[in-house]
Amino acid sequence: RFSRELTISKSDADIHSLCEDVVRQTMPDQSDKNVEIVNNVAKVTLNVDPDKFKQVLINLAQNALDAIDKNGRLEFYSSFEDDRFCLYIKDNGKGIEDKDRIFDPFYTTKASGTGLGLSISKKIIELHGGDLVLVKSQPGETIFRIKIPHEK
Ligand code: ADP
Ligand code: MG
Repeated sequence: RFSRELTISKSDADIHSLCEDVVRQTMPDQSDKNVEIVNNVAKVTLNVDPDKFKQVLINLAQNALDAIDKNGRLEFYSSFEDDRFCLYIKDNGKGIEDKDRIFDPFYTTKASGTGLGLSISKKIIELHGGDLVLVKSQPGETIFRIKIPHEK
C-alpha cells in the first residue's frame, strides 16, 4: 500500500509563508474563475516536512477551488488549542456530497479525479502526530482542519 512508502523529513518552517507559497501555486489553476484566496494563518514556526505539508495544503486548496463554481472565497486561518496548532481551510463552494466516503482511497466525484488527495493528506498529517478532519460542510461552507502538535 502507498502508505508504507510515505516517510517524512522534518525541519522548522514558517507556516504562514508556507501557505503563501500554496496561494501562489494555486492561483494559476483558477484563472477561469474569480476566487479570492485569503491567508490569515499566524506567523508560527513548526517542525514539519515542508514539502509534504505543502502537498496537503495544495490538495485541500485544489479541492476547494474545484467546489467553487465561478465566484468564491478560499481562506486559510489558524488557532492554538493547548499544545496543538490548528490550521483551517474554508471554502464557500457547493459542499460535500458524501461525507462518509471522502477519506476513502479512490473515492472521487470528479470526471478525472484520482480520489487519493484526501487519503494521502490524512496519512501525511498523521505522520506528523496530528489529524485531518472535516469540520463541517454544507452548500456555501466547507471547512477542513489540520491539527498538529507544537512545542510551547
Ligand atoms: P479528488 O480530488 O481526486 O476527487 P480527493 O481525495 O481530494 O480526490 O477528494 C475526494 C472527494 O471529496 C472529491 O471528489 C469531492 O467529491 C469531495 N471533496 C473534497 N473536498 C471538497 C470540498 N472542499 N468541497 C466539496 N467536495 C469536496
Ligand atoms: Mg483532490
